Amino acid sequence: MQVFKFGGASVKDAEGVKNVAEVLKQFQGSKICVVVSAMGKTTNSLERLTKAYFYKAEDAESLLEGIKKYHFDICKQLFTLPSHPIYTELENTFVELHWAIEDEPTQGFDFEYDQIVSMGEIISTKIVSAYLNDAGIKNKWMDVRSLIQTDNTYREGKVDFDLTETLVNKELTPVFDTHDIMVTQGFIGGTSENFTTTLGREGSDYTASILAYCLTASNVTIWKDVPGVLNADPKWFARTKKIDELSYHDAIELTYYGATVIHPKTIKPLQNKNIPLYVKSFLEPKGEGTVIRDGEKRLNIPSYIFKVDQVLVSIQPKDFSFIAEDNLSDIFELFSKHAIKINLMQLSAISFSVCCDHDADKIKTLVEELQEQFKVLYNSGLELMTVRYYTQDTIDTLTANKIILLEQRSRFTVQMVMKNEIAE
Ligand code: ASP
Ligand code: MG
Repeated sequence: MQVFKFGGASVKDAEGVKNVAEVLKQFQGSKICVVVSAMGKTTNSLERLTKAYFYKAEDAESLLEGIKKYHFDICKQLFTLPSHPIYTELENTFVELHWAIEDEPTQGFDFEYDQIVSMGEIISTKIVSAYLNDAGIKNKWMDVRSLIQTDNTYREGKVDFDLTETLVNKELTPVFDTHDIMVTQGFIGGTSENFTTTLGREGSDYTASILAYCLTASNVTIWKDVPGVLNADPKWFARTKKIDELSYHDAIELTYYGATVIHPKTIKPLQNKNIPLYVKSFLEPKGEGTVIRDGEKRLNIPSYIFKVDQVLVSIQPKDFSFIAEDNLSDIFELFSKHAIKINLMQLSAISFSVCCDHDADKIKTLVEELQEQFKVLYNSGLELMTVRYYTQDTIDTLTANKIILLEQRSRFTVQMVMKNEIAE
């Protein structure tokens, strides 16, 4: 049993959906659980729709029309018969979405967000499943919300692994007695009261990992538009190299520091059951890709993770006394209260510095609250560079023309908060 995950980019248009069928044809006879994300940038569009509906910021109806048109245009290329049942099925789904945005919101934003945004995956999997059936790849569509159970932390559902495993064994495992392929949604889950939750943005990788864990799959493959895990993001670096093999440990470290190739939560469940994870290109399915598995093998080249739009917050007691443990506990409480993730921190005698993503609203409130007790300085527009398995050479190259505001080195990893030198 294998688990495949196809992300939004792989199903962004009709060609993409056809390509999913081509990839699956190469695995004929294998039992595969196929996890699919929303098509293209649909999740962003649905996020915008939710804001329009909830805050009455813009016309929700016309946004919904745009989302509907995008999917129907793809369907017209995939299903030439106007009487194809997929059209009625999608019409019904969009009617439900219409109803959802007609009523006044009854609950908080995060709740409404999950009920609306989750529809991207429901719609994409219906299209993909129907197309695969037509293309001779017989498959069963399943609603993952009846398998993956979460608590009711909307937008960041916490998975109940025990319950999910029981449901997977009961509902999903028997499907493979009669089907080779099963198609389901990434990113979403269900609560005990049958409401929908989402697992956090880009969470479909995590779904693949949860299902693989519960099925004790032999492996997971994440199909992407890159040939595998690269040692840097090609968006920022010209000469990237593919990493052939990565230990779970290195993969966890790299995703923790912000490598976006896989969702950070993906690795742990796989590591717990020793299930290898492949990252491969859906454009070149026969390529080797990257394998992430158990092992001590260290990377032999440095890997870079570059984050922009960082802010460095420096916190000092108003009376210039030392930063003591009780100050730190107050400070951490505020970061936790506002759900601000700390990317790097450093303590000196009279100041505590924290680097985090510059989420303007959150940072503004945080700074205001910190100022009640501390003197707070902050510096925005910064970059955070993390290099795992660094060499002095790489550091020198990366920091040319940069001013380093803060640096931290451990045996394997160096992190630098920096900004561009201003030309005189
Ligand atoms: N569709 C969701 C998102 O864009 C989940 C995913 O793609 O992994 O965040
Ligand atoms: Mg994605």
